[in-house]
Amino acid sequence: MQFKDFVYKRPDMDQAKKQFDGLIERFKTAESFDQQDGVLSEIVDLRNHFETMATLVSTRHSIDTRDAFYEKENDFIDENSPVYEGMVSEFYKVLVESDFKDQLKDKWGQHIFNLAETALKTFDPVIIPLLQEENKLISSYGKLKASAKIDFEGEERNLSQMGPFVQSKDREVRIRASKAVNQFYIAHEQDFDQIYDKLVKTRHEIATKLGFDNFVELGYARLDRTDYNAKDVAAYRQQVYDVLVPLSQDLRKRQSKRLKIKDMKFYDESLDFLTGNPTPKGDPDWIIAQGQNMYKEMSEETDLFFREMMTKDLLDLTAKKGKQGGGYCTFIPEYKAPFIFSNFNGTSGDVDVLTHEAGHAFQVYQSRNYKLPEYIWPTLEACEIHSMSMEFFAWPWMESFFKEDVDKYFYSHLNGAVLFIPYGVTVDAFQHFVYENPHATPDERKAAWKELEAKFLPHRDYDGYDLLDRGGFWFRQSHIFQVPFYYIDYTLAQVCAFDFWHRSREDRTHAWQDYLNLCKAGGSQSFVNLLKVANLSNPFEEGSIDKIIKPVKAFLDGIDDEKL
Ligand code: ZN
Repeated sequence: MQFKDFVYKRPDMDQAKKQFDGLIERFKTAESFDQQDGVLSEIVDLRNHFETMATLVSTRHSIDTRDAFYEKENDFIDENSPVYEGMVSEFYKVLVESDFKDQLKDKWGQHIFNLAETALKTFDPVIIPLLQEENKLISSYGKLKASAKIDFEGEERNLSQMGPFVQSKDREVRIRASKAVNQFYIAHEQDFDQIYDKLVKTRHEIATKLGFDNFVELGYARLDRTDYNAKDVAAYRQQVYDVLVPLSQDLRKRQSKRLKIKDMKFYDESLDFLTGNPTPKGDPDWIIAQGQNMYKEMSEETDLFFREMMTKDLLDLTAKKGKQGGGYCTFIPEYKAPFIFSNFNGTSGDVDVLTHEAGHAFQVYQSRNYKLPEYIWPTLEACEIHSMSMEFFAWPWMESFFKEDVDKYFYSHLNGAVLFIPYGVTVDAFQHFVYENPHATPDERKAAWKELEAKFLPHRDYDGYDLLDRGGFWFRQSHIFQVPFYYIDYTLAQVCAFDFWHRSREDRTHAWQDYLNLCKAGGSQSFVNLLKVANLSNPFEEGSIDKIIKPVKAFLDGIDDEKL
């Protein structure tokens, strides 16, 4: 059966709700563990059905947004998702109060109970109007950015169409493009400030209504973090400051020499090489064929996985008219099928899809047989370990994609990953300031950002551009508006992926086995426990970053990057 044969039928929500209420009643009144466990299975089936329908709709809608049928169905699912989420919350309530809790824990593990308790802390019917307000504000941020019409080189362009100019090899073009982009943010400064101010106040109110002091702990709970807290993250940020900030400054100096630019400005930062960034040496079909060969040679498991992705047509990779932008990986429960979506455009990003998104897909393929939907995917920082580590496990095949550019690829992959972390930490520290000081003014927020930038990104020079010089860069970072406290996850995962990178070069067999075990564990355990499953260092532990980064630094030091 191929993706096109997966059957969508609009869920009958009244019917589902009735059925669900009946199941909850039977769960509550079950007279034995076996009886209750049987009902639990039926609840899971009902959930998997709704999630299958919802995923089919959103996937097919994203593949062709002009398709009127799936557009309508997408609206239907959007409207009804809160009803569905309410049902899941009802289930969690009866689960944590079950009379057969101990037996359920023996069978399903402690983790589902921790997740249920954490989720219950984040919701109460009294906050529904505030949640709706929050969603509206999040959408208005997206709409405001999408409204950008920038006159540049004789054409009207949106923000993502400005991307190639902002990263142009020609410095004059970069300067003009980044000025034009900044002009958009200056013109809408008040709008961005207002949206964010309302978001912060709304989130603070939600938190206090739910009994929290401020939004910080609630933000962590929303991300299902069950085994680390804001204090652990603060200590982690300190390690980044001590180890990665100095290394990043060295790497920036090397970049400045390589680019022959003495006074590096922020618009120079994304250019790695004067001769241009590495590109794959073939068209989309050729890239996919290289990918297929790579997974065939990598391991039996990856071979099986990728062949199934191909034969069931679970990849939609090339850019087409009507297709949504970006890339993602999702999972269709009733068919136990991962799905990868992307827009190939001839850059090294195309290869990243085949390693990064395929890393996500490979993980969910390995954990697809868990009965509980909660155990299919782990929390987001763990998810990114699978994808970012697959990028590194794929290194031995990169020459087949990049040919003569392969050394450029290696250098910029590692270099970019190191440089990203201090920025990610800035985004996180900023959000802690914001939600710990919910009554700060927009100017005070900008001042806080500027101070954090000076600490974690001391090289950064905005060339006197207004707004950026006053601490307004973060308007561009959508996560800050859309999913508070999410951003640090990418940095945690990157540190863990560095660990796998090093271990895969020392002893590939064992590193791969640990990676496979991690993928198989899916979301059945918390982040810190998953690290143990994979024999990975815990990034929250003092000294871990220093240890992990040494071989990375040695590798970068061993490359004569001015020759690339
Ligand atoms: Zn990812």
